[in-house]
Amino acid sequence: MAAQETVDHKYVYDFSEGNKDLKDLLGGKGANLAEMTNLGLPVPPGFTITTEACQAYLATGREPDGLAGQIEAHLESLERAMGKRLGDPQDPLLVSVRSGAKFSMPGMMETVLNVGLNDQSVVGLSAQAGQNDRFAWDSYRRLIQMFGKTVCEVPGEEFEHALDEIKNAKRTHNDLDLDADDLRGLVDAYKKIFLKHTGREFPQQPREQLDLAIRAVFESWNAERAVLYRRQERIPADLGTAVNVVTMVFGNLGPDSGTGVAFTRDPASGAQGIYGDYLANAQGEDVVAGIRNTVPLQELEQLDKASYDELLGIMARLEEHYKDLCDIEFTIERGKLWMLQTRVGKRTAAAAFVIAGQLVDEGLIDLDEALHRVNGAQLAQLMFPRFQLDHEFQPVAKGIGASPGAASGAVVFTSARAVELAAEGKSVILVRRETNPDDLNGMIAAQGILTSRGGKTSHAAVVARGMGKTCVSGADEIEVNVPAKRFVVAGQTVNEGDVVSIDGTTGKVYLGEVPVMPSEVVQYFEGSLDPEHIDNALVRAVHRIMTHADGRRRLAVRTNADTGADAARARRFGAEGIGLCRTEHMFLGDRRELVERLILARDADEREAALEALLPLQRADFVEIFREMDGLPVTVRLIDPPLHEFLPPLEQLAVNVAVAQERGEDVAKEEALLAAVRRMHEENPMLGLRGVRLGLVIPGLFAMQVRAIAEAAVACAREGRVAKPEIMVPLVGAVQELETVRAEAERIIAEVVGDSGVEVLIGTMIEVPRAALTAGQIAEAAEFFSFGTNDLTQMGWGFSRDDVEGAFFWRYLELGIFGISPFESIDRDGVGRLVRIASEEGRAARPGLKLGVCGEHGGDPDSVHFFHEVGLDYVSCSPFRVPVARLEAGRAVVETGGSDSR
Ligand code: ADP
Ligand code: MG
Ligand code: MG
Repeated sequence: MAAQETVDHKYVYDFSEGNKDLKDLLGGKGANLAEMTNLGLPVPPGFTITTEACQAYLATGREPDGLAGQIEAHLESLERAMGKRLGDPQDPLLVSVRSGAKFSMPGMMETVLNVGLNDQSVVGLSAQAGQNDRFAWDSYRRLIQMFGKTVCEVPGEEFEHALDEIKNAKRTHNDLDLDADDLRGLVDAYKKIFLKHTGREFPQQPREQLDLAIRAVFESWNAERAVLYRRQERIPADLGTAVNVVTMVFGNLGPDSGTGVAFTRDPASGAQGIYGDYLANAQGEDVVAGIRNTVPLQELEQLDKASYDELLGIMARLEEHYKDLCDIEFTIERGKLWMLQTRVGKRTAAAAFVIAGQLVDEGLIDLDEALHRVNGAQLAQLMFPRFQLDHEFQPVAKGIGASPGAASGAVVFTSARAVELAAEGKSVILVRRETNPDDLNGMIAAQGILTSRGGKTSHAAVVARGMGKTCVSGADEIEVNVPAKRFVVAGQTVNEGDVVSIDGTTGKVYLGEVPVMPSEVVQYFEGSLDPEHIDNALVRAVHRIMTHADGRRRLAVRTNADTGADAARARRFGAEGIGLCRTEHMFLGDRRELVERLILARDADEREAALEALLPLQRADFVEIFREMDGLPVTVRLIDPPLHEFLPPLEQLAVNVAVAQERGEDVAKEEALLAAVRRMHEENPMLGLRGVRLGLVIPGLFAMQVRAIAEAAVACAREGRVAKPEIMVPLVGAVQELETVRAEAERIIAEVVGDSGVEVLIGTMIEVPRAALTAGQIAEAAEFFSFGTNDLTQMGWGFSRDDVEGAFFWRYLELGIFGISPFESIDRDGVGRLVRIASEEGRAARPGLKLGVCGEHGGDPDSVHFFHEVGLDYVSCSPFRVPVARLEAGRAVVETGGSDSR
């Protein structure tokens, strides 16, 4: 920091001095404005104040030394270049002051246009525009409005009301019907509003306007909605924003002027061809805010062919240069095209895959790069179900499919109501005319978003796509009445609480709840869609990239599955074995009675009889799974939860016994059960009699399970299949525990397996911190380790996982103690370190020790990268996460430069 405070530290960069790789310093907008400037594209001249200046300002509450002078110098050279001066009464230079952080945060921070106008220069501006008073006063009223709202916190509605009043007086809905006199009157009204709220006159000094606007942009970094957005998107809080000061160009100079936004491909589907919205005679914010309905960009060809052609040329050039989909903002001033922004555009999950595939075809990127550009979260999103539409369901309206997915829920009209109902566990659809940044909370809470105005680039659309939330925008058949809490469509009234369904792919809106069906991507994984023979760009792209990921990855991917059906599905999804087959469900249902007999057994004979009755049932379960997993390893975990979980709850049992006694019935058996439940009650069951401890305390229990596994494997071998069982002992903390279980198991396996050729491995879970720290010893008795990262996190942090997430994690997240729950994504520094230590020491003691992970983390993208780095052999996750883990395991390789990081 010290260096930054010296006078020479460079805080301001001319556009010609930057480039696209300086996003940290210049923010995305500034870096890309510089890049376009250096490509020779028509960018209005300007300069960027760095994020470092913002960080310094936010840390100290004042502009860092040297900043003011550097701004002065850059402003002077801008004035020289433009031949105009800021605030000149005859020919004023006007600038915009625009935020722009490293990561795009659409609409989250502030922008002020037309800085430099005052009571004198507004006249000069009009003269320069050919006595266009209307334009000049329109620009001035916009300055007061934006400056008032952004810089001085004047409530925006007041300005809106004043504007509505004038429009009402003229009996019009259209801004364009207001003439110069109306707008001059509006400026007076705005000034009064400004004075009323700030206690001062609207500042007439252009340099003061500029400095206050810059400061407001700095401060907007910490505005509530920006903070919320960053948390949602996991953007670090300390980056700060850059500030761009850009010479104004005017899209509101008349019908031959206008402004628009465009994508070089469709950001929703990835389809080739340009996509955009254009609005004639307007300043840029009108488009993004969805205030007036835009026309499709293609119509610009009729309006101004030369600009249109130039724009297409520039878009092609940008794609070529960035080798990716770009989105742009542009303005046409009297037939002259200006580029105001570009960036590699946000896109839907489907578009991400499709575009990555297209760019490979076009030779712009290779398959490694394509793999890098998609991610597991997107793939997971593509696996969501879609609406199943039969004739019953007719859409009542059609808007723009702004962000795909299928969402049903109760209609709500305000952000607050959305939050309220979501907190009660209800699905809601937030319906608005258009959204604005204040709706963010409601958008997060809602299942889907429906607006009656605005295009694919409206606030609702951009933000929803970023969140992966279903959104239909611009459904203009819908008449939204927020105060009355209802909308009207096709003659029907839909009230708050009524259920609607929206399809973010087709843009269709349905009344009632539409049933859903599996996505195409899931059908492809299931093997019912053949990518070589169907015309589906998404499925083909997914197939191609998944195939590449499989070729690249080092980690194997297994699944957690307890039944034959789950195992079969996971295998179709690409699982290369079972990493965790829990055996506890085999003790539920009608088998509870056997467990009760086991627990109530008065002597060895009764106990053995109960176990003997369980044996064939268990064996049949394993046969089913081994058959499905023919040829692949299956890790079976011996019973883990405390046995009393299989008994009826204490209170219920006590009541039953009391009632039966009252009636004079024979309750000997119930009383015995009640006594057993009382005896087995634990204060901390998670830390009690469970896992290996059970096996050591209840004679014959593990032996029965081991026998069932071995017999099932032998039965499969006789059918000509290959069963590869791996017996896993849970909750081991000391090698002696494992040795004891192992000795008995080996004896049984030898006896059962005979010369059938079946091989059974014996290993352990590493889920107690002590096991991780004594892994070298434990490896002597284990042929494999499987990290149970759920328990390891629970015991590593001392967090009861059933309690803490609801109880206080929100506060920990708020305080930044962690950025994400350690149960969701592995805590690399702590729990991850235990994994690392155990891996290294285990392998040192037993080279070739097989290492895997079977906690929820096995399907979490970030955690998969960590497990790759640590050098595990496989991850295991739920069937639906298997494709995600395959993809991320491939990405982990290309992102570490293709090296084997073990
Ligand atoms: P955001 O980050 O919210 O998109 P921007 O800084 O891009 O905010 O500004 C919003 C809109 O204002 C832009 O779309 C653009 O059309 C318009 N705008 C910004 N600077 C200028 C300028 N110098 N001349 C004309 N219009 C501008
Ligand atoms: Mg912008
Ligand atoms: Mg466990």
